[in-house]
Amino acid sequence: MKKRIAVFGSTGSIGTQALNVIAANPEIFTAEILTAQNNDELLIKQALQFNPNVVVIGDERKYNKVKGALANTDTKVFAGEQALEETAAMDCYDMMLAAIVGFAGLRPTLQALESGKAVALANKETLVVAGDIVMKKAVEKRVPVIPVDSEHSAIFQCLVGETRNKIEKVVLTASGGPFLGKKPNYLVNVKRDHALQHPNWSMGAKVSIDSATLMNKGLEMIEAKWLFNLQPSQVQVLIHPQSIIHSMVQFEDGSIKAQMGLPDMKLPIQYAMSFPQRIKNNFPRYDFRKPGQLTFEEPDVKTFRNLSLAVDALFKGGNLPCVLNAANEISVFAFLRNRIGFLDMTEVIERTMQHVSFIENPSLDEYFDSDGEARNFAASLIKL
Ligand code: NAD
Ligand code: MG
Repeated sequence: MKKRIAVFGSTGSIGTQALNVIAANPEIFTAEILTAQNNDELLIKQALQFNPNVVVIGDERKYNKVKGALANTDTKVFAGEQALEETAAMDCYDMMLAAIVGFAGLRPTLQALESGKAVALANKETLVVAGDIVMKKAVEKRVPVIPVDSEHSAIFQCLVGETRNKIEKVVLTASGGPFLGKKPNYLVNVKRDHALQHPNWSMGAKVSIDSATLMNKGLEMIEAKWLFNLQPSQVQVLIHPQSIIHSMVQFEDGSIKAQMGLPDMKLPIQYAMSFPQRIKNNFPRYDFRKPGQLTFEEPDVKTFRNLSLAVDALFKGGNLPCVLNAANEISVFAFLRNRIGFLDMTEVIERTMQHVSFIENPSLDEYFDSDGEARNFAASLIKL
């Protein structure tokens, strides 16, 4: 039986790489659902190639164009935000690859879990915002949430065969991004195009900016807490500029397991989709005999203060990670449009975290309210 994959966010960096994996393994996978927000052209092209059961275009103004282009196929076409959730509830797939970016991925992913579907999770914001509710739902429905984020995939791989063994801590590695070693007097002037240049990975715009500010690693600390049921103090970050060790787990006896390889998101994507099997491929291999060093250093949290803000949110919990995430999404959006500077992003997030009232144990509705309130407040600071 082929595994039927629903690629939510199929036109993005993760989504297109997932479709490459599916295309390379037609005897193992089929793509049954494809969704995109704006990129109708690519969505149509993908639909003609993969012949999915359903496609969803987020922007409703593009419905007619997509519908027309697929008129001679069996593919059903839907549009709009609501259609994402409805499609996630359909029977025609086995596993959701959750590759929408940001808060928008939360509802469809929750719906997939509610419908008893396995989730391969790239959308880390889902766990940052409502990790308690999402993981509880997965346990209740007895379905796996398998990480796609490379660090979490590494930890997940290190934990195979260790179900009864306690974790002492996990070490999330970070490349440090394009501004590793830089100080605030430099960062104050950096522009969007420079910040988008990541040394080791080619990714979507939002996660690239998050990598440059180190917010990405903060979001990943929160993601790790929920995925692996850890205390905040068990999650540590280490700068490793070469991105060969993707992360590590230290067990109670002091033994450390690391997962390594060349940086290529197709590996964690493929692993999440085929788990527990591994699929043979001919991607380039890391070669220890070649000259080169693997180096490690502490993150500079005084310069990259977004990471400190995320650590605060991690330790305080409640709705604070949700607020942090919302303010960050607004800030990154504004930075990408050259509306605010690189360091202003931290300022907006910090002030928003101080402004929105703390809720210790939010309901799902309260998470949505906190998200909305944080977005409005952050936007008012920027005057978008
Ligand atoms: P991207 O911007 O390249 O793609 C995002 C996808 O989501 C697109 O298909 C887009 O159409 C869709 N989308 C955007 N806004 C939407 C909305 N409001 N409603 C519905 N769909 C929407 O992003 P990406 O880099 O592929 O990242 C996707 C997720 O994976 C993010 O959460 C990111 O943090 C995570 N991730 C990405 C990488 C990477 O290498 N790109 C690595 C680790 C984790
Ligand atoms: Mg990552």
